[in-house]
Amino acid sequence: MKFKAQLIRTGTSERTEVFVSIERKVLRLSNGDSYPIGEVSVGERSGVNSPFFIFLPSGQQLIITENVREFADEFYKHLPFYRKNWLHRFETWGKSLLVSVLVLIAAITFWLTKGSDMAAEWLANRISYDLEYELGKHILSGLSTLGWTVRKPSTSDEKRVEELFYFLSEQAEVKYAHFYVLDKPKIVNAFAIPGGFVVFTSEMIDDYISEEDGLEALGGVAAHELGHIKHRHSLRILIKSALVASIFTILTGDVSIVSLGMAQQLLSLAYTRKQEEEADAYAITLLMKSYLDPEPFIELMQNLKEKYDTDEVPEFLQSHPHMSKRIKKMRQLMEQLKKQDFQE
Ligand SMILES: [Zn+2]
Repeated sequence: MKFKAQLIRTGTSERTEVFVSIERKVLRLSNGDSYPIGEVSVGERSGVNSPFFIFLPSGQQLIITENVREFADEFYKHLPFYRKNWLHRFETWGKSLLVSVLVLIAAITFWLTKGSDMAAEWLANRISYDLEYELGKHILSGLSTLGWTVRKPSTSDEKRVEELFYFLSEQAEVKYAHFYVLDKPKIVNAFAIPGGFVVFTSEMIDDYISEEDGLEALGGVAAHELGHIKHRHSLRILIKSALVASIFTILTGDVSIVSLGMAQQLLSLAYTRKQEEEADAYAITLLMKSYLDPEPFIELMQNLKEKYDTDEVPEFLQSHPHMSKRIKKMRQLMEQLKKQDFQE
């Protein structure tokens, strides 16, 4: 292809019109001159369509003002990569750059949703129980920095729940199980921390122990938390939040997200609906295996569902909108297990 160009003698304003073509890495001018492309230099351009200046070894300047893009394409095709300037790289790669950015966004979105779950699971499976236990101990002591003090059970009611918890944990064959009480007035809750730590608020025990079948209901809550422990859900959540936080740090350079207390993170993180259902199913199976009736636990959940709004929902009720479904599923499983038992 021939390109129209102005040839200027350096130091003068004398311009002549020439045609330029590039063949086999040689710049050929219609006036008969030719220059190997490696011997010319190119002026910096301010934009994709701005004129293309070429400084010839003869001291002359060549300016291409028409079909600049096409000329640039042709010109750079003959140049080794390292001599191409950023503007041309953008010209040729602009589209692929956009695609790369979109792919990156998709990858990050995937990472924040599915990918981090998968990575967390992969990592959780590689963390030893001893390490998980150490981690749990740190988190437990971290709770006190939030002004929450966990303690060993002290009242006779608390000790009854503790006894049932240890009975269930033996049936559950979990690696570690530790029962703690948290004094947090007006908060009815129970949660599991990595390393087998299960914490009940004293309010939770006080509220239900005096009810009919209250102890069995609390046993169900304990069984549900043991389900989270058995499946290492809290460990996975913690790893996931650390992974997501580190991705944010890489992207934004904001360390403050990471420096959030681990304990705080763990408590503010919700289990997935699937994890809750896993813990529910685990609880029903464990209770029945231990010859305990799951009904009081299901009723406790029903009762709390009616009592609480979406705010301040106890851990084991976190997937609140799906509570009815969860309760239904638990009942189904209970019936199914009863039938199996009958057949055996
Ligand atoms: Zn739960």
